[in-house]
Amino acid sequence: MLNIILFGAPGTGKGTQSGLIIEKYRLVHLSTGDILREAISKETPLGLEAKHYIDHGLLVPDNVVLGEVNEIMKQKKEYAGFVFDGFPRTILQAEALDVMLNEIHAPINMVFTLDVNEEELFLRILNRAKLSGRSDDNEETIRKRVAVFKAQSLPLLDYYEKQGICYHIDGMRKIDEVFAHICENIDYYKDK
Ligand code: AMP
Repeated sequence: MLNIILFGAPGTGKGTQSGLIIEKYRLVHLSTGDILREAISKETPLGLEAKHYIDHGLLVPDNVVLGEVNEIMKQKKEYAGFVFDGFPRTILQAEALDVMLNEIHAPINMVFTLDVNEEELFLRILNRAKLSGRSDDNEETIRKRVAVFKAQSLPLLDYYEKQGICYHIDGMRKIDEVFAHICENIDYYKDK
């Protein structure tokens, strides 16, 4: 079993790399951003609650996100592992995830941190905005999301560094180069 976290600020390519990883290694993609956006488009109670936070570039409260993740993980009984994308985003979420995974004796194996400089992040998200139609892909909200990332999510690096499972990936390169570097690390880990 292989559980991977893709960690990085908005616009670092987590979604793109997750898609490639799950296809190659037959893992389950768990993107809390995608789950929340789907709930918003279906106008479910979760979506109605989450919309306000997302539109303001703020994090959806931990208990709301954790409730959803718990539901999904309970449903997935047979799986080769997860790629967590955009989750966890706070220390509390990371601790709760560890508890959930300990119950099934399948800890997080690898955390890939995608490093991209701030100037490039803005360029990428503003570019994505032209296609995505995402309500939070505008300059003001991006600024807020990056600030929230630094304040609330960056401390997670230390949490995972201490466990010795962090892999720093230069995310400024082309998609296939980034993917190749990630695969190199996964293959090496699996062969150990
Ligand atoms: P993303 O698609 O991962 O960039 O997420 C888009 C937005 O959804 C974020 O800016 C947050 O408002 C919300 N969101 C996604 N994942 C989480 C999470 N794990 N915890 C709290 N809020 C989240």
